[in-house]
Amino acid sequence: MLDKPDNTLDPALLARFAAIVGEKYAITDREAQAPYLVELRGLFQGHTPVVLRPANVEDVSKILKLANETGTPIVPQGGNTGLVGGQIPLHNEIVLSLNRLDRIREIDPTSNTLTCEAGVTLQRAREAAAAADRLYPQLLPSEGTCTIGGNLSTNAGGTAAVAYGIARSHVLGVEVVLSDGRVLNGLNKLKKDNTGYDLKNLFIGSEGTLGIITAAVLRLIPRPRAVETALAGVPSPEAALELFGIATERTGGDVTSFEIMSRGGIDLVLQYGANTRDPLAEPHPWYVLIELSSQQREGTRILLEEMLEQGMERGLVLDAAIADSIEQGKALWRIRELFSEVQRFAGGSIKEDISVPVAAVPAFIKEANEAVTALIPGCRPVPFGHLGDGNIHYNVSQPIEADKAEFLSRWSDVNKVVFAVVKKYGGSVSAEHGIGLLKRDILPSVKDPVALDLMRSLKRLLDPNGILNPGKVL
Ligand code: FAD
Ligand code: ZN
Repeated sequence: MLDKPDNTLDPALLARFAAIVGEKYAITDREAQAPYLVELRGLFQGHTPVVLRPANVEDVSKILKLANETGTPIVPQGGNTGLVGGQIPLHNEIVLSLNRLDRIREIDPTSNTLTCEAGVTLQRAREAAAAADRLYPQLLPSEGTCTIGGNLSTNAGGTAAVAYGIARSHVLGVEVVLSDGRVLNGLNKLKKDNTGYDLKNLFIGSEGTLGIITAAVLRLIPRPRAVETALAGVPSPEAALELFGIATERTGGDVTSFEIMSRGGIDLVLQYGANTRDPLAEPHPWYVLIELSSQQREGTRILLEEMLEQGMERGLVLDAAIADSIEQGKALWRIRELFSEVQRFAGGSIKEDISVPVAAVPAFIKEANEAVTALIPGCRPVPFGHLGDGNIHYNVSQPIEADKAEFLSRWSDVNKVVFAVVKKYGGSVSAEHGIGLLKRDILPSVKDPVALDLMRSLKRLLDPNGILNPGKVL
C-alpha cells in the first residue's frame, strides 16, 4: 500500500519534513544520499526522496507525527553497519538518520550507568565509560561506526557476549518515539522495576519496526584490571569446545571472549589483511582466540598459561601464542576482526549467522560442511565466530574458478541444507544480525506460528499505519 514506484515525494510534503530539521539536514542531492542507500555487502540498493537528520528527540517526534498523519513510510538508520538490510529504504521510504543525536547525557559512576543518545557510536560510549574507570561491555568489530541505537534495535551480540551478554543485558532504560510521535520516556536507572510489562524489551531487537529509540540508559561494570589474550592452534572444533570447558571451569566468568576460526579463513587474513602475520610457527586446522579479564591485578596470566598447558597435555592445544603487550594483543585481535572482511577476496560468499546449543557446535559444523559440499562440490566452508555462545558465522566461499553470480544464486539452496542442520539441533537461523530484508521470507518457515501471530498483532498495535520500516522483519 505504501510502496511508491518512483523516488519522489509530493514536493509540498517534502518541504514540511525538511522544515522540521532545516534545509541543511534534509538531503535530497543524489550524490550526498548515496552512502545512506547501500550496505556493506552490496546486497541491497535503496532509493529515497530525502534523508532527514534530526538533532533531537523533539524533531524525531515531529517527523513521525507528520509521517503517521500522511502515511509516509520511514526507515531509521544508525551507523549503517547492519548485515541484513534492515536500514536500507528499498521502497523509497524516507531515511531517518539518527547520527546527529550524539550527546552523552550523563555518566553516573555510583549507579554504574551511562545515559546517551541513539547516534553515539559504540566506540564513543566505550571510551566515555573508560574515562570514568568503567567498562561498557558490548564489543563489536564495527564499534567505530555502529551506534547505540543500532546496537539496541538489532539486539547486537559480539565478541564479549560470552561473559557479559547481548545488548539486551546492558540496558536499564530507553526513550522511544512511537509511530504517532508520542515519546515513551523510559529512561530510568533502575535494576529493579516491576511495575507491569517490560516495554523496553519490545523495542530492543525490533529492528526499527515498532518505534525509534532516541536514547538509552546503559549499565556499566567495573573496568577489568587485567586482560590477557592468546591465540591457540587446535586440532578440531571438538577440541576447541573441550578447551572452552576447561577455561570456564578454571576462571568462572573471566572468559570474556572465546572465538573459533578455521584455517581456510586465517589463510585469507594472512594473504590479504594488511599488517598481519602468522603468530604460530606451523599452520593448524583450527584456531581459538581467548581473552580472560579479571578484577585481580595478578594471576590472570598464570591462569591462562596453566589452562593452555592443560590443553596441550590433553592434546586439545597444538601450539599457542600469548600476547605480551597491548600491541601484541591487538595484533591477535586484528586476525579475528579481519576474518569476515577478507573473504571477499575468495569470490562469492554465502553467509549464515546461526546459533545452536554450545555442545552441538562441533556436530553442526561437521554436518553443515557435509551438506554444503554435497550440494555444491568444491565450495569452501569458512566457519568462525562466537563458540562460547554457540553462535557460528557459517560462511561458504565459492569453488575456485566458479562463476560468482551463479554461486550466489544458490543462496537459498544453501540456506535450506544449513537450516536443516540448525533445526536438528534446536538452533536459530539468525543469532545476532537480525531478520531485516535478508531473512524476512524465511521467518514464517522457522518461527513458531503463535509467536509470529503475536508479533504481527504487536506491529499492528504500535504501528497501525505501517510507516515504521515497512517490509522488514515481518
Ligand atoms: P544500522 O545498520 O544503521 O541499523 C540496523 C537496524 O536497526 C535497522 O533495521 C535500522 O532500521 C534499525 N535502527 C538503527 N538505529 C535505530 C534507532 N535509533 N531506532 C530504531 N531502529 C534503529 N553484529 C553483531 O551483533 N555482532 C557482531 O559481532 C557484529 N560484527 C560486525 C562486524 C562488522 C565488520 C560489521 C560491518 C558489522 C557487524 N555486526 C555485528 C552488525 C552490525 O554492526 C550491528 O547489527 C549493529 O548493531 C548495527 O548498528 P548500526 O548503528 O550500524 O545500525
Ligand atoms: Zn558475530
